[in-house]
Amino acid sequence: MGGNRVGDVVVVGGGTAGWMAAAALARALGGTTRVTVVESDAIGTVGVGEATIPPIRTFNAMLGIDEQDFIRNTQGTFKLGIQFVGWGAPADRYMHPFGAFGADIQGVKFHQAWRRMRDLGHADVFGAYNICETAALADRFGPGDPRLPFTRMTWAYHFDAALYARYLRAYAEGRGVVRREGRIVEVVQDAETGFIDAVRLEDGARVSGDLFVDCTGFRGLLIEQTLQAGFEDWSRWLPCDRAVAVPCAHGQGPLTPYTRATAERGGWRWRIPLQHRIGNGYVYCSHHLSDDEAAATLLAGLDGAALGDPRPLRFTAGRRRRAWVKNCVSLGLASGFLEPLESTSIHMIQAGITKLLALFPERGFEPREIDEYNRLTDMQTEQIRDFIILHYKANGRVGEPLWDACRAMEVPEALQRRMDLFRHRGRFFRHEDELFAESSWLAVLLGQGVTPQGHDPLADALPEPDLRAALEEVRGGIRRTVDAMPSQSDVIARFCAAP
Ligand code: FAD
Repeated sequence: MGGNRVGDVVVVGGGTAGWMAAAALARALGGTTRVTVVESDAIGTVGVGEATIPPIRTFNAMLGIDEQDFIRNTQGTFKLGIQFVGWGAPADRYMHPFGAFGADIQGVKFHQAWRRMRDLGHADVFGAYNICETAALADRFGPGDPRLPFTRMTWAYHFDAALYARYLRAYAEGRGVVRREGRIVEVVQDAETGFIDAVRLEDGARVSGDLFVDCTGFRGLLIEQTLQAGFEDWSRWLPCDRAVAVPCAHGQGPLTPYTRATAERGGWRWRIPLQHRIGNGYVYCSHHLSDDEAAATLLAGLDGAALGDPRPLRFTAGRRRRAWVKNCVSLGLASGFLEPLESTSIHMIQAGITKLLALFPERGFEPREIDEYNRLTDMQTEQIRDFIILHYKANGRVGEPLWDACRAMEVPEALQRRMDLFRHRGRFFRHEDELFAESSWLAVLLGQGVTPQGHDPLADALPEPDLRAALEEVRGGIRRTVDAMPSQSDVIARFCAAP
């Protein structure tokens, strides 16, 4: 196809990916493009995916969604980072908070200044210099103090993914998106070009379009089963291949504004507090743990009563070799899956939508634009993959077969180079447009014991009293700002109070 206007978009699938895509397309192209969503109630959605990272706020803002309305309608809570438990020695814990640690001092990177003070025996724990970590551990939430840049808070959300999809569906339908319910039994292709012409539903109805967005989840009905994009298997680095999930009631403790990821013998467990329940799951490697053991460990670690039976899921870590083929763009699980350790899947949907809008094939399909979409997707996925692999590689759980194997595995060359550079003098360089900032890498590298042998000599140029004063200013400013914040529960109660 070339030159014809792309006026009909069919989004196939109505999970988080499908409704995020439909909402964004309606918002951006509503006046010029018809959008139809096809979803099957009988097949349903994957039903997990409750933790996000800060760019979700940009997505909601792009749609013009009001934060208070969103929190109220999705049982949402605030997320300031992820607490990792047991990734070093079993009792270790550290935080990967959002936002920066301190601020550069006279051109010297903050972590280098901190490291020098530590070498001199003075500095506090690194996390004391991050507002999100300090607030998260105190169960506080607020915007920060506008006069002190290092106290500006960065946040994301935990939410009920089914409610978010429902919320976006109402948004999209309100802007003209048409929903067709039914199971797709056939994908009709043009005999000559192989482009997708239409999907046929069980009841015989045919839904045709110019562009198809495959959001059919793991099955990849269009991108894989029809267009055979191919799958790149990354399980040699990310060996977990199963999960079991169950929500539970709240226990006695506060509504912690962070996700928890607890390493276990066969993988790791997540804990995601929402307003009405806590989401829990155990992601594990079937070579090292049986399904029964995983479910038993999960149930034994719940805060409150289980609200249902544990639900099993299977997956392979990896990605589609090409996310966009002919007139089909895949989003969400249809385009691949990196396990949820850093809550990046929903973000990848958002990133895919953003790229699709930037490269929207208004007047036909240009191979170089499709190639660019695929190139950018590959790069972003590999950068996130390496960040997740770091957690496995740098584990300290000696004597457990899964974790021993992960420590010994060969990692992608780019990751190994970064780890080596950091180990030497704590040096780190963010790659162009990389999702995770230097502060995220520092949190995980230091948190999991990848300790620099020394600090950058640049930090030696700073007089010790100046350094000490600068660190104290940051830590004290953060402490005072957090002390003045309300608890997260108070903020949510205010958000959800009747108007
Ligand atoms: P699905 O939810 O599976 O939706 C697929 C849709 O396609 C459904 O509507 C279905 O009805 C439709 N469909 C399929 N076949 C047909 C057919 N033949 N005819 C008609 N319709 C069809 N992400 C995060 O960002 N944070 C997390 O904390 C997180 N945790 C996760 C934990 C686990 C264990 C897993 C497996 C994933 C997690 N994810 C997380 C990923 C997240 O769940 C997904 O990215 C997100 O839910 C999007 O799913 P989806 O819309 O691609 O697929």
